[in-house]
Amino acid sequence: MRSLVERQHHVLDDAQLADLTSLIFAEAPTEHRLVHTPLTGLPLAEIPLSTPSDVGCAVQQARSALRAWTALSHRRRAAVVLDFHDRLLAQREDVLDLIQLETGKTRANAFEEVAEVANVARYYARSAAKLLAPRRFRGALPVLGAATERRLPRGVVGIITPWNYPFALSLGDALAALLAGNAVVLRPDPRTCLSVLWGLRLLLAAGLPPGVLQVLTGEGDVIGAAVARGADYVCFTGSTGTGRQVARLAADRLVGCSLELGGKNALYVRADAPLELAVDVALRSAFAAGGQVCAHTERLVVHDDIADAFVPRFLEAVQGMRLGVALDYGYDMGSLFGPDQLQRVGDHVRDAVLHGARVLTGGRARPDLGPWVYEPTVLDGVTAAMDVRDAETFGPVVSIYRVRDDEAAIRLINDSDYGLHATIVSADRAAARRLAPRLRTGTVSINESFIASWGATGAAMGARGHSGSGGRHGAEGLLKYTVVQSVAEQRVGSLAVDRTAQRRFAGLFSGGLIVLRRSGLR
Ligand code: NAD
Repeated sequence: MRSLVERQHHVLDDAQLADLTSLIFAEAPTEHRLVHTPLTGLPLAEIPLSTPSDVGCAVQQARSALRAWTALSHRRRAAVVLDFHDRLLAQREDVLDLIQLETGKTRANAFEEVAEVANVARYYARSAAKLLAPRRFRGALPVLGAATERRLPRGVVGIITPWNYPFALSLGDALAALLAGNAVVLRPDPRTCLSVLWGLRLLLAAGLPPGVLQVLTGEGDVIGAAVARGADYVCFTGSTGTGRQVARLAADRLVGCSLELGGKNALYVRADAPLELAVDVALRSAFAAGGQVCAHTERLVVHDDIADAFVPRFLEAVQGMRLGVALDYGYDMGSLFGPDQLQRVGDHVRDAVLHGARVLTGGRARPDLGPWVYEPTVLDGVTAAMDVRDAETFGPVVSIYRVRDDEAAIRLINDSDYGLHATIVSADRAAARRLAPRLRTGTVSINESFIASWGATGAAMGARGHSGSGGRHGAEGLLKYTVVQSVAEQRVGSLAVDRTAQRRFAGLFSGGLIVLRRSGLR
């Protein structure tokens, strides 16, 4: 504990803290928020909070800065982002410390955030020019006219992000918006804004013009809502309840929004699943970042034929996990984010037990390891009477459900308001691929945790039902930050038809359409 506190002061000394917080758009802050590190529960930083009038100014300044940014070619914008990519990887240890201090997760989970941001930076820097390139189409009359479809930036994009993967979600979404030619007003959770500010500092060093990316702090229902009211497009990541409120704010102004919301994700262990693989994938799917990942597994759906072999082996693996907090690699699971998370997780387990569920392993807080550490927990006998059956726990609690065949598994997986992610473990990958389209989820991973879908940056991650509208990564993750404009021009002649020739024109035009149809053209 003593060495952790010393490390904390070494990682985040007063000068660095002052430098990072100076990047917050807060012109005359009247309030500060004292933030604690989940590693020790001790104070980490005093964060100046932006005010609602700061939001208006930030949007205005971002709009002014936008001109210089939009005027740059794709190549110049990509060069800034690729330089940022290289600096990030070279200086990763610094931001890993910050992410761990802010979130309490393990260093390996913190590294996922760095890897995600580097992947997004590289992917869009290399593909934006192609994805955004103007597309030419035939005009109303072939040869005589033509149309060009262009993807134009939306303007100032508002991005609101939660505390669980602050660096990855904030910077990843911001980079895509920036590479589409927008300015960004970003409102991370103030409790986890330091790693985001560190990223902003690095982007400025890499050549991002000042003002193009503004970071605001302040309470969600005040400053987050003000961002949603002021931006030309809103990208929200968080819970389903808040997502609904943000969607209403966007709808009132008829601006677009993307919603990346919660999940109650399932992992299906098929009868033919290789046992060790199933155990390993289930372990990492359920307990990554203490279960505080939107796509992690909370429902373990196990085929009857393998359940008796799988369950004891899985429990043994869960009991063998190394829990603890340290600013270094080596632990399998770290701390929960804070007292509210600890309360929520404990409440779900207590409610389940009260209604007859069995705790197969875990089910206890571990204050001896850290103030908000909770054991990885496996429940059995969960029924619809229990909160944990349908509500997102967002913690290290997974429930086991046995099924007799694939059809029952599909029914159970789809029996959720959410529709974010599912995993299938099977020796027969072709069979798993056939099951995937029948699952009502935005992403499916086969024989790997959600990291497989998350790491496939070129493939868009969707979401269904109460998990939102999705659209991170892939072409969609960039194009959502654009508006489409088509410019059609008449090269020769006119589309006007003389009144006396209209019948003849209709006949000729219909004939032309039939020729197009027969020749296989569109
Ligand atoms: P939350 O909805 O409470 O808050 C999310 C963000 O919105 C925070 O920054 C918060 O301050 C802000 N906010 C709160 N009220 C607001 C309002 N009225 N207007 C605008 N912004 C407001 O969620 P949380 O507890 O911070 O995060 C956990 C949730 O996020 C979980 O449900 C998790 O599944 C989800 N999540 C989803 C994804 C995804 O990609 N689908 C990724 C990470 C987390």
